[in-house]
Amino acid sequence: MNFQPPLDDIHFILHEVLKAPDQLQALAGFAEVDAELLRQVVDEAGKFVAEVVAPLQGVGDTVGCKWLDGVVTTPPGFRDAYQAFWRNGWPALACATEDGGQGLPAVLEAVLFEQLSGANHGWTMAPGLLHGAYECIKHHGSEELQSRYLEKVATGEWLATMCLTEAHAGSDLGQVRTRAVEQNDGSYLLNGSKIFISGGEHDLSDNIVHLVLARLPEAPAGPKGLSLFLAPKVMPDGSRNAVHCDRIEEKMGLHGSPTCAMRFEDATGWLIGEPNRGLNAMFLMMNAARLHVALQGVGLLEAAWQKADAYARERRQMRAPGPRDASQASDLIILHPAMQRLLDTQRVWIDGARVLAYRTALALDKAQQHPDPLKRDTAQRWCALATPVLKAALTHQAFYGASECLQVFGGHGYVREWGVEQIVRDARVAMIYEGTNEIQAIDLLVRKVLPDGGTALALMLREIDVELDLSRDADAAALRRFAELNQLTQTLVQASKADPALPYRVADDYLRLLALALLGWAWTRIAAAAGDTSLPRWRTPAVLVTRVLPEFDMLITTITAQCAVCTANT
Ligand SMILES: Cc1cc2nc3c(=O)[nH]c(=O)nc-3n(C[C@H](O)[C@H](O)[C@H](O)COP(=O)(O)OP(=O)(O)OC[C@H]3O[C@@H](n4cnc5c(N)ncnc54)[C@H](O)[C@@H]3O)c2cc1C
Repeated sequence: MNFQPPLDDIHFILHEVLKAPDQLQALAGFAEVDAELLRQVVDEAGKFVAEVVAPLQGVGDTVGCKWLDGVVTTPPGFRDAYQAFWRNGWPALACATEDGGQGLPAVLEAVLFEQLSGANHGWTMAPGLLHGAYECIKHHGSEELQSRYLEKVATGEWLATMCLTEAHAGSDLGQVRTRAVEQNDGSYLLNGSKIFISGGEHDLSDNIVHLVLARLPEAPAGPKGLSLFLAPKVMPDGSRNAVHCDRIEEKMGLHGSPTCAMRFEDATGWLIGEPNRGLNAMFLMMNAARLHVALQGVGLLEAAWQKADAYARERRQMRAPGPRDASQASDLIILHPAMQRLLDTQRVWIDGARVLAYRTALALDKAQQHPDPLKRDTAQRWCALATPVLKAALTHQAFYGASECLQVFGGHGYVREWGVEQIVRDARVAMIYEGTNEIQAIDLLVRKVLPDGGTALALMLREIDVELDLSRDADAAALRRFAELNQLTQTLVQASKADPALPYRVADDYLRLLALALLGWAWTRIAAAAGDTSLPRWRTPAVLVTRVLPEFDMLITTITAQCAVCTANT
């Protein structure tokens, strides 16, 4: 069973829950983006994903990418699908029209990439970095670089990579050793080795644009001595640049994406942005790239749930407890409470996550296009705080939730035939790349929440708690969780003075706590949009309050206990 883009669900969340058309039409540049246009684009994307990309999911895993003498061949069908993808304009969706793009909002790109990831995570890795590379070149590239590369990257005719990681420099990019030396003609010679480079070499596009972090001769040590360079696979004169792929990794999953060890041996590159400010140039694209990974989480969990739900509606084992209409089959797996609970738990995450992820994509649009600077700041604050939370929490849920979905199949889930074990294997890496989930948690708590004493977080929660209707129990509970979170943040501010290592110890739990608070809030919005009577599909599953949200209270208790220990020890 191939992945089916859940178009009705996506429309419901975009249109009924988030009122996306109204929000977008208030922004400069999107006055034309009405409900009809949003529907058309989402439906067309769904068609392409279902017909072209989803059928390649199995072959991507079983055949995988092959390396021979520096040349990488992607699985059968991958190149044709990619060529159709860019020729149909999909990578250019949210790029500016003057660059060959369609000038549509980021939220549409978010919806597209969520669907693609659910259909075929491995294939989707290739175009996944394009938009970030486009933004980087657009905002930091020289005019000459822009004239040569911007349109090719915007349209996706040429794919792009991010060459950051080295064998000794993973989370700590300050240790990057690749060197760049300026030449008389203003270009640079790059020397060094990078590992784990997604799409470092392949046959999907005719050229590959590498964005490479490297160090200039007199650069200071650490992250403030890194510069960013553009080094193409094929030079403007048609010759091959000295960029070599030495191997592709054998890995747990994601076999459809070549993870490459790259050697730059006197490769030619050009500086992007200012010397020693390479990380700044990359930070611009960080929120969007991390949101993309969060959306991979949503897509992958949806894909695993679809398979498990369909299987549970057919597989019969033992009579399920409880009274049953004589005409009903009573031995379907889906009727067993243990399986229902498991499937409903994933639905709670998928639907709530979709609300939060699309809201964040809309905030990216607002941060760039809102005519009111205050609204731009508010949107920017939401993106800064919500993005690490979504990246970590949704990729965590994708892996563990997909594993739960595998459980629904019993032994049949553990064998290849049903494809759910592939999703579990593919999903694991999203917790690691684009900043590990531990790094996201530290980014949230240590860099963003604690330095201003929790003020930005309180403002972010204040912005959304005004939407709550306190006559509803669920809304009142969401408000209580926000208050407890703010209170705990104050406790942490104080306790961290006694033990500066404390925030690092509790960061993962704190991020999860905020994720649960936001998830509870997201479900109040779904409930409000669904109304009291209609749309049974959107009735709040009981497991939200009986199983998922109680973890919030448990985490409050454990973090508070750790604060108390620190304070008592001083
Ligand atoms: C399939 C795949 C695709 C990838 N694609 C790309 C790509 O396209 N481009 C690219 O440049 N890189 C890519 N990467 C690399 C990826 O970004 C790194 O693996 C990641 O940043 C972690 O670095 P590391 O593997 O060296 O782990 P390390 O940094 O050594 O971390 C090991 C463990 O220690 C933890 N840790 C490290 N530092 C801290 C800290 N300060 N506080 C708390 N915990 C910490 C980490 O969370 C992790 O759990 C890819 C990796 C994989 C597996």
